[in-house]
Amino acid sequence: MRTAYKCRAYPTPEQIAALNRTFGCVRVAWNKTLGERHRRYRDQGVPTSYKETDAALTRWKRTEELAFLSEVSCVPLQQALRHQHAAFQNFFAGRTRHPRFKSRAGRQSAHYTRSAFRMRDGVLTVAKMSAALRFVWSFGEVNVAALNPTMVVVSREQDGRWFVTFAVDADQDVRAESTGHAIGVDLGLKDFLVTSDGERLANPQRVARRARNLARYQRRLARCLRGGSNRRKAKAKVARAHRKVRNSRQDFLHRATTRLVRSADVIAIEDLNVAGMVRNRHLSRVISDTGWGEFRRQLEYKCERAGRTLIVIDRWYPSSKTCSTCGHLLAELKLSTRHWTCPGCRTRHDRDLNAAKNILAAGRAVARGDSGDACGADVRRQGLALPRSAVKQESSSSRTTEKSKLWATHGRLI
Ligand SMILES: [Zn+2]
Repeated sequence: MRTAYKCRAYPTPEQIAALNRTFGCVRVAWNKTLGERHRRYRDQGVPTSYKETDAALTRWKRTEELAFLSEVSCVPLQQALRHQHAAFQNFFAGRTRHPRFKSRAGRQSAHYTRSAFRMRDGVLTVAKMSAALRFVWSFGEVNVAALNPTMVVVSREQDGRWFVTFAVDADQDVRAESTGHAIGVDLGLKDFLVTSDGERLANPQRVARRARNLARYQRRLARCLRGGSNRRKAKAKVARAHRKVRNSRQDFLHRATTRLVRSADVIAIEDLNVAGMVRNRHLSRVISDTGWGEFRRQLEYKCERAGRTLIVIDRWYPSSKTCSTCGHLLAELKLSTRHWTCPGCRTRHDRDLNAAKNILAAGRAVARGDSGDACGADVRRQGLALPRSAVKQESSSSRTTEKSKLWATHGRLI
């Protein structure tokens, strides 16, 4: 499987000029190709292949007004066309939104494949540049001198900072040692998560504080006149505040997911319909702030990398309303009720811990391969074949891990 290392880069003024020129050409190649694709589809109703876009790029380079495209390395331009082709395939498969035109104001990037960069003893040189590109390696556990990247991405963030990302084919020995433990995780609004072991992780206060700062800068920006220098300064402050919110949230989520993946072989979570909940305006702010979607994404790739089994329980499974001791199902449980006593067995429950225990039980049922009744809920399977056990899962190739999904009925949050 592939993994990537992203570090800060410090290009020289000449390198900045060369990279900005490359970004400009990447943007022209992307936008012009996108425009042609649109027109062809509208006029003739036919989709465009990658080969055709590549041939068009070669033709453009021969014309007078687009001859400047040959002044930069051709690799980032071809990569941009490949990405656009993949973006369209994803779009037609219903996985993503329609590809959009690139703006010069956003994040800029150039992808260099092996033929367009050289990496020797930790020194990076990219095509059409004589001097090495300086970067700061911040991954102590990885020896940069031995790094053999398959691709290098040079990027400039909106706030003007530069980065270089090294994509490498990771070794197989990143697989984690077996712990013999399974864990259920309940994501919540009061605490970020509660595990079936009773461990709680509070929502980070730092992120909330930084989000408040960001909102203040955004209000200030809205009051500035267009085109003024104050507006430019206010804009830079908003970009920096955005970065701080994003970084501290990412940091929090990475710590949380790494910890979970280390602690258990089998991790069961709920499939929260984040997109649907974000549309609910009472919950939207707090949910988009907590980053549940990103949490799931990180957990998925880290589980795959470590050879762990991630089981996703359907969002309609009544994990909060079911008693984890006797299986009694409550007719109703308000969001504000933090504790309740089961009418069936008189067990006093903490709302979130009880939910985490139920999620674990439902996850175990999937891992065993039960397709029937789990914790009083209707449990069904969907999609690809499920892993029968953690052991079998580990023996299968990490690249072709078949995602397991369990579907049932429930409405816990909305
Ligand atoms: Zn009970």
